[in-house]
Amino acid sequence: MDKIAVIGAGVSGLSVANLLKDRYQVKVFEKESEPGGLVRCRRVEGNLFHICGGHVFNSRRQDVLDWFWSHFDREKEFVKAERNSVVVFPDGLKVPYPVENYIYLFPEDVQKSIVADLVALAAEGQDGAANFEEFLQKRFGKTLYELYFRPYNEKVWRRPLGNVPLTWLEGKLPMPSVAEIMYNNINRVQEKAFVHSSFWYEKNGGSQFLVNRLAEGIDIEYGADIHSITRENGQWTVAGESFDAVVFCGNIKDLPGMLRGVDTCGKIDFVEDLEYHGTTSVLCSIDANPYSWVYQPGSNHKSHRIICTGNFAQSNNAPGKMSASIEFTDGISKNEILDNLSRMPFHPQFIDHNYSRYTYPIQDSHTRGQVAALKEALSSERMYLCGRFAEWEYFNMDVAMGSAMDLCKTL
Ligand SMILES: Cc1cc2nc3c(=O)[nH]c(=O)nc-3n(C[C@H](O)[C@H](O)[C@H](O)COP(=O)(O)OP(=O)(O)OC[C@H]3O[C@@H](n4cnc5c(N)ncnc54)[C@H](O)[C@@H]3O)c2cc1C
Repeated sequence: MDKIAVIGAGVSGLSVANLLKDRYQVKVFEKESEPGGLVRCRRVEGNLFHICGGHVFNSRRQDVLDWFWSHFDREKEFVKAERNSVVVFPDGLKVPYPVENYIYLFPEDVQKSIVADLVALAAEGQDGAANFEEFLQKRFGKTLYELYFRPYNEKVWRRPLGNVPLTWLEGKLPMPSVAEIMYNNINRVQEKAFVHSSFWYEKNGGSQFLVNRLAEGIDIEYGADIHSITRENGQWTVAGESFDAVVFCGNIKDLPGMLRGVDTCGKIDFVEDLEYHGTTSVLCSIDANPYSWVYQPGSNHKSHRIICTGNFAQSNNAPGKMSASIEFTDGISKNEILDNLSRMPFHPQFIDHNYSRYTYPIQDSHTRGQVAALKEALSSERMYLCGRFAEWEYFNMDVAMGSAMDLCKTL
């Protein structure tokens, strides 16, 4: 049996290891002391803390769903939930998500302005946007853009939306036409087309339960922070052991400093300039409410999203409390967090916080081509890239699993 080293025991590395374990001798190296990467959770004062942000599961890919459910007892171990998300504006107005389906809930003058925008867009045509700002204005009109889409997305991405290329968001953007928005408003249609409009959630332990299960029966060395991966005589050496192939599920930005004995002919140089965001995830207890996600476009504080994890599973809550994970883009001090929480809805009470440096990869119009060229160069040496930061893609868990499945079919 060929020996394969997998770097990283996040969702991607664990998926690869499970998919290959019957055909190869697989060893996983993980720098942390537990599996999970971005989906890790820990319990704090009786509450489940999603340390990098709340995670739920669903997929549009049937092969991913089939593979996923082959590891779990869906009825016994998971709950199914319908998404109930809301946008809370700074004046307290609550409009369900997606806001464009609920124009009738805005004040009358705002409704008129949105309708006038949409009528103009229908006449002008909606195609031909050069960047994210233009895309949103052409889809939803200037009023909704200024009221919600611009302030919310600027909080998330921390840059003018005119500087965000569309390639970056390909396949992830809502594309309603003016006719659909009108129809949805007249008929009070609630959007059900999102991948997470209904989702599965673990009855106990949140997403840590998921990765703990995937880690069962896999040879994983924890606390193994890999600094060098060396190619010599047609073999790879990782942590002093020899392997026939390597699947790298870590961060592509670390690769140039790690790779020895391989000439990528400059194809790896671009990684130095790749941009990204981090997330500060804040565990709080909050007022009871019926929501799953609360989106916050207001500029009166810096957080963009509350994930009401306490509504996903009762076991996430300390007795008599309701827990939530509140997200801020990038790092923010505890004092600033406390100050911001005081201006947020549902009276969040701080319990704990965690900053993760890498949570959102940022692509420009060249990134996909550059990653593809690097993958090709490395695969001829039997090294493969797989994962959110290995492929520098805005993957959800299911897409990361799908990427692992696609890769493993080729090995
Ligand atoms: C805030 C937030 C919310 C999200 N919500 C959802 C959601 O609700 N549903 C959903 O499906 N997806 C969600 N996602 C996406 C999901 O987190 C990712 O798709 C998934 O976790 C990616 O897994 P990965 O294995 O590719 O990467 P990672 O989780 O980053 O795993 C990489 C692993 O490699 C290890 N590693 C790195 N370098 C080394 C090294 N040198 N040596 C050894 N080990 C190393 C790391 O420690 C880590 O364990 C969310 C993401 C974020 C940031």
